[in-house]
Amino acid sequence: MAKVEFLRCVKCGREYSPKEVEYCCPSCGPEGTLDVLYDYSQIKLKFTKEAFIADDEYSLWRYINLLPVERKPELLNMQVGWTPLYKAQRLEKSLGLDAVYIKDDGRNPTASFKDRASAIGVAKAIELDKQIMCAASTGNAASSLSGFAACAGIPSYIFVPATAPAAKITQLLVYGANVILVDGTYDEAFEVCLKASEEFGWYNRSCAINPYLVEGKKTVAFELMEQLKWEVPDWVVMSIGDGCCISGAWKGFKELYELGLINKLPRMLGVQAAMSNPVNRAFRENKNSFDYIKPETLADSISVGIPRNGLKALRALRESQGDVVDVMDIEILDAMKLMARTTGVFGEPAGVTGLAGLRKAVNDNNIKLGEKVVLVVTGNGLKDVKSAMSAVNAPITIQPNLEDLKKHLL
Ligand SMILES: *Cc1c(COP(=O)(O)O)cnc(C)c1O
Ligand SMILES: [Zn+2]
Repeated sequence: MAKVEFLRCVKCGREYSPKEVEYCCPSCGPEGTLDVLYDYSQIKLKFTKEAFIADDEYSLWRYINLLPVERKPELLNMQVGWTPLYKAQRLEKSLGLDAVYIKDDGRNPTASFKDRASAIGVAKAIELDKQIMCAASTGNAASSLSGFAACAGIPSYIFVPATAPAAKITQLLVYGANVILVDGTYDEAFEVCLKASEEFGWYNRSCAINPYLVEGKKTVAFELMEQLKWEVPDWVVMSIGDGCCISGAWKGFKELYELGLINKLPRMLGVQAAMSNPVNRAFRENKNSFDYIKPETLADSISVGIPRNGLKALRALRESQGDVVDVMDIEILDAMKLMARTTGVFGEPAGVTGLAGLRKAVNDNNIKLGEKVVLVVTGNGLKDVKSAMSAVNAPITIQPNLEDLKKHLL
């Protein structure tokens, strides 16, 4: 583990060696999530544009020199990361912008952005010889872990709210995870999982507890910059639940900057559901603590009352001179249709929440013509068919003959 130099607490700044601490800062507790820091002077020699041109590993393992595992585990050969980036010309027109790109992370093996983190979590478990893994999740982290754990042959225990969308629970069951439906919210499932992990020694996949997971998420920034030929966008837009995805992406950009591969940084636009917006409220009030809100949104993946990586998310927003906006569920459903109908990309509600927020930011004139924007679609639309159906009209039904068809078409 020579690459990782130390782990630094996001709250108190104390530094630890990776051998000393497994999860959070011992003096700050769960709020003290740790940043993984490397010996960048050494990494600089291998992490170069020339090296990428010569590399034919088109997955997140392409960035192994800046990941907290020694090598890609042989067993984990699913194609994770290196998702497509599309220039969305018809969407640009509809928004009144001229450079909007879609990074479709619904194209990952279990169909969400969470796969970037699970790949690292499972690789780490293999390296540390952990026998059992666990996760609490609104749904996607769970289905993702269960898929990667299955691939590696590691049993997993998964805690999800009983209300999670059927497709996500189905994934868990098909992958053979030990599924525990919690009669409560995600916040409650998280607490039970945390206790079980301590009690039974299971390796916890939570991005807010386990410092290595966010490292997988940062690879989205590396891919984006390669795909954009190292031209830094003005804005990167992502939805926020716990705050791990946006802080992961931000860390990736900062590392590229530190390594001299890019010469400016993007601004991060976070988007939250209006009834599940503790990060936005803390940002507006310039606070470093979060007031609980009983989350209510159909975007289940960002239905979070206590943001578990909230401090890191706030840091990403502030350091990048970014912004956060709230959107209503109806705006999320509209964004789902707009994205699908202008780009062909079908995202789940939390996956298109970024677009709903971008629309708002454009209407408020905070993002303007001439600015280059990347929207990260974090999950595939088939993950939650029920919400999608509530956004659309019922189809027509005809008798199987042309006359009846004509009646309906006229
Ligand atoms: C988990 C998730 C998010 C939010 O990520 P956080 O790290 O919790 O902020 C957004 N969209 C989808 C589809 C997700 O699964
Ligand atoms: Zn601390």
